[in-house]
Amino acid sequence: MNRSGIGYDLHRLSEGRKLVLAGIEIPFEKGPVGHSDGDVVCHALCDAILGAGALGDIGAHFPDTDPKWKGAASLQFIEHACKLLANRRMRVVHVDVVVICERPKLGPHFPAIRSALAEVLGIPGDDISLKAKTNEGVDAVGRGEAIAAHAIATVSIH
Ligand code: MG
Repeated sequence: MNRSGIGYDLHRLSEGRKLVLAGIEIPFEKGPVGHSDGDVVCHALCDAILGAGALGDIGAHFPDTDPKWKGAASLQFIEHACKLLANRRMRVVHVDVVVICERPKLGPHFPAIRSALAEVLGIPGDDISLKAKTNEGVDAVGRGEAIAAHAIATVSIH
């Protein structure tokens, strides 16, 4: 039996911040503003995983008021979410992630991002779908003021 969860995240972009996606640093002149590292791939995916398990959301598990998570590497959010799933006899079998930003081009970084996610999720890279889109120049994402991600995680119950 399978279940699915959906997740979404957006962070404002500012100069002088590192752009990190799935723990991979992407060379760019701006990066996300956030209490943690602002990793939209990890945050959207973490919410998708928690959603599949009906385990609440990222804010409940990793509150931005908790100094423990200040500047946290967000891959550990995914790791923790997978542990919570395992406690309920569930595991992630497939994920699909869409990242939306005007710049930089993300395609060249997908192999590294896929490897990082495969390792933390414990699934083959072939079961990790990554897509990059722009926002066609409109709204905050289109003006380069923000980066966003959507994710779906499918989990199996055993
Ligand atoms: Mg976030």
